[in-house]
Amino acid sequence: MSNTEDLLALTHVGEDPSKYMGSVTPPIFMNSLHVFDTVDDYFAVDIFKDQYYYGRASNPTVTILEKKLATLEHGERAVVFSAGMAACAAAILRICKTGSHIICIKESYGPVQHLLNDFLIEKMDISVTYVDGKKLSDFEEAIRPETDMIILESPTTLLFSVIDLEGVAKLAKAHGITTYIDNTYSTPIFQKPLDMGIDIVMHTLTKYIGGHSDLIGGVLISKDKELMEKIMVQRDWFGGVLGSMEAWLAIRGLRTLDVRMKQHYETTLKVTEYLEKHPKVKQVYYTGLKSHPQYELARKQQSGECGLFSIEIDGDAKTTAKFVDALKIFERGCSWGGFESLAIAYTYNWTKEQCDFLNVNQSIVRLHCGLEGANAQIADLEQALAQI
Ligand SMILES: *Cc1c(COP(=O)(O)O)cnc(C)c1O
Repeated sequence: MSNTEDLLALTHVGEDPSKYMGSVTPPIFMNSLHVFDTVDDYFAVDIFKDQYYYGRASNPTVTILEKKLATLEHGERAVVFSAGMAACAAAILRICKTGSHIICIKESYGPVQHLLNDFLIEKMDISVTYVDGKKLSDFEEAIRPETDMIILESPTTLLFSVIDLEGVAKLAKAHGITTYIDNTYSTPIFQKPLDMGIDIVMHTLTKYIGGHSDLIGGVLISKDKELMEKIMVQRDWFGGVLGSMEAWLAIRGLRTLDVRMKQHYETTLKVTEYLEKHPKVKQVYYTGLKSHPQYELARKQQSGECGLFSIEIDGDAKTTAKFVDALKIFERGCSWGGFESLAIAYTYNWTKEQCDFLNVNQSIVRLHCGLEGANAQIADLEQALAQI
């Protein structure tokens, strides 16, 4: 059962129909600027108090979304961006400087590693240590005097490893290091990292929060109000604000987030339990399964699971691709978190070096169970597995 506070955030928090002629849904404020009666009125604007002057700084529809997301994550303030990656980049640029050292888990989202490896290391002389992260000592051993940030994701979204969030937060605090987590997998419904001591939570809105595969967006949330106000100003300088149309779509997505997440969880448990017994499936990676090596830690930190998981096919890369190509309900595509089921032969074209980095082979398929129901999904997987 989700708590009342969460359910009210999804439905009503941040909204005031009396301000919009009783309209039950808020308007999409499609304006780039606001106008004023006097010069003094213009200069009196305080963007931190829901006052507006220019759309790059903020917009009333954007504020409604930010209030909901801050409430859901138990933060003081949320700041939304034009993409999850814009949010991630904003957090790194806020926390780090030239010469900073970052500890990042090896299984973090690929584009984050590109941002670090192919841009920040070179341009800002930032150094990065990648750690496995399943043991606290992995972090402890990597800490240096110049370590400013720890980048986490839990569960991770290819091999579904779980990080001890309270443990890492405590360790980081003792060393004055800022902790950041990509909480997209769990959504704020199933995991609240700020309550476990993590400093900054990031979500891509593109996945479950949007929920309908029709928008790109991201958000940062923290209990540190001052930090978030700095990030809000920084967003104004970089210009990566979320558009009001996208903000409105995310508000609409939130209305059903709780019921959708429960359905994804229930369905995906059935599907993964089926796959676990299939002779052509070597391994299922899903933290909802009792067979997952970190099942207990997942249960301690997460109150539920989403629709994303991976399997290892008992066969080579070509056989794996044949299975994926034979799927009908599961369409081939790289996102997740929407209404639709998806599959991708994730490691199909990986080099040996890429495979060795995560200790995997080329037979990993990542699947997302959408809302078509477990019967249709299992039947589809069964017919595709029968073809290899
Ligand atoms: C998709 C994704 C992102 C990036 O989000 P965008 O909105 O596409 O920038 C970040 N983290 C995870 C885990 C993702 O799956």
